[in-house]
Amino acid sequence: MKLTKYAEKRHFDQTPEPDAKVKKKSGKQHLFVIQKHAARQLHYDFRLEMEGVLKSWAVPKGPSLDPSQKRLAVRVEDHPFDYKDFEGVIPEGNYGAGEVIVWDEGVYTTLEAGSFQEEEKILTEALKKGRLEIILFGHKLKGSFSLVKMHRDKEDAWLLVKKQDEYASTEDVTKLEASVKTGHKLKKTTHG
Ligand code: MN
Repeated sequence: MKLTKYAEKRHFDQTPEPDAKVKKKSGKQHLFVIQKHAARQLHYDFRLEMEGVLKSWAVPKGPSLDPSQKRLAVRVEDHPFDYKDFEGVIPEGNYGAGEVIVWDEGVYTTLEAGSFQEEEKILTEALKKGRLEIILFGHKLKGSFSLVKMHRDKEDAWLLVKKQDEYASTEDVTKLEASVKTGHKLKKTTHG
């Protein structure tokens, strides 16, 4: 798994973001992170560990716990595994300039949880097919979600949808604004 696109967009002498090293993770469970990012347009970056990197989607409206809400999630370049801990300010003039906080984090599994390697296989195949069914164990997001590619669309557009279970709710989860790492809230919700 290469991080060429990630590296091409960034100057690592100018941004505090992690560089493009691929880490061989030997963890027992796959991690997910959602970063709230006050770039030109506020969005939430939804990232799933797979193949030693973070597969990533930008979700303009953020996730919802309401199964009737389908949230657009545009696939973006893979990010390095170490990006899961990144919180800080991407300086003016750099790609994605603006503040980033870790809005939620935790582990995730496939619907039938197995070993790390078994899940890795299921997840990478599901990603290729454009249909991920996963269970999140986060602070804010819990329970099953689907992430499905809209094949008709020219952009790499997917839909992130909560599935019906005991964690489904009509409460607006984006009202929980603070970083789960530091308690910080974004000072500005857009950059510039
Ligand atoms: Mn972003």
